[in-house]
Amino acid sequence: MPITFKHVSHVYGPGTPFHYEALKEVDLSIAMGKITAIIGETGSGKSTLVQHLNGLLLPSDGEVEILDHTIKAGEKPKGLKNLRGQVGLVFQFPEYQLFEETVLKDVAFGPKNFGVSEEEALKRAQQALQMVGFDESLYERSPLELSGGQKRRVAIAGILAMHPQVVVLDEPTAGLDPLGTTQMMQLFKKLNTEHHQTIMMVSHDMEQVFQYCDEVIVMDHGKPRLQMKVQDFFQDGSICRSVGILPPFLIQMKELLIAKGFQFQEPILTMEELAKQIQRQVRHG
Ligand code: ADP
Ligand code: MG
Repeated sequence: MPITFKHVSHVYGPGTPFHYEALKEVDLSIAMGKITAIIGETGSGKSTLVQHLNGLLLPSDGEVEILDHTIKAGEKPKGLKNLRGQVGLVFQFPEYQLFEETVLKDVAFGPKNFGVSEEEALKRAQQALQMVGFDESLYERSPLELSGGQKRRVAIAGILAMHPQVVVLDEPTAGLDPLGTTQMMQLFKKLNTEHHQTIMMVSHDMEQVFQYCDEVIVMDHGKPRLQMKVQDFFQDGSICRSVGILPPFLIQMKELLIAKGFQFQEPILTMEELAKQIQRQVRHG
């Protein structure tokens, strides 16, 4: 069953002078088993949207269906703890998530909280820290003493250690260096293809969306403006330009080459494929 948003609105500060409707009657259906990117300008409601996936924020209006849970506006949600074990959410700001004395304890907290034995929780924590490429010599450090990129890795490990069915990541590669970013994206791809985890990620990086994601949702002023397959979104640069986004490098390059008279057979998803097709055309004059 897909994840569905039915007419979901979210108001911050209702009944106060700060009343702000960050989501406006959102209708969405998000397939399980995919990597879905959520993009859009700062303030468009991406973080607000994803925090509805595990009941961290509740709809002011409408309802969210996810796995076997329904969260309805105005009703006390049932089974939230269970939902949070199945849907792991990594915050945009990892500081909000880290609180234990040591890195290892922090990552083990989630599985322990969901009833896994101490020993098993520590084992899962070590596995998750290894997956995210976190240096073993820092396991006993306080999470607060780490760099931004290291905190990010610990926060992601803390969620992965719970083995959630759905992994929700809010700008997961912010603060990571280019190599770290690539490794992290490869890890998410692996979790999706090998462990069949559904991944939802907020991102600003079109190269990431193009290379690693299956579906894309464009948020705009609290509403989804577009939802489509990544391959269609980047077919040429026109759709993403129409929503104010610069296309990935490969697509820009392809557009320039087409303007110079080259013709391409779709799909072109990699530099290698582009180079191969250029070579063929140059050879044949
Ligand atoms: P994005 O993640 O796309 O940058 P957010 O979902 O964080 O957007 O925010 C959407 C809008 O809601 C913004 O205008 C933001 O200022 C407002 N907002 C976010 N969090 C709060 C909050 N806790 N209280 C009041 N307004 C908020
Ligand atoms: Mg955000």
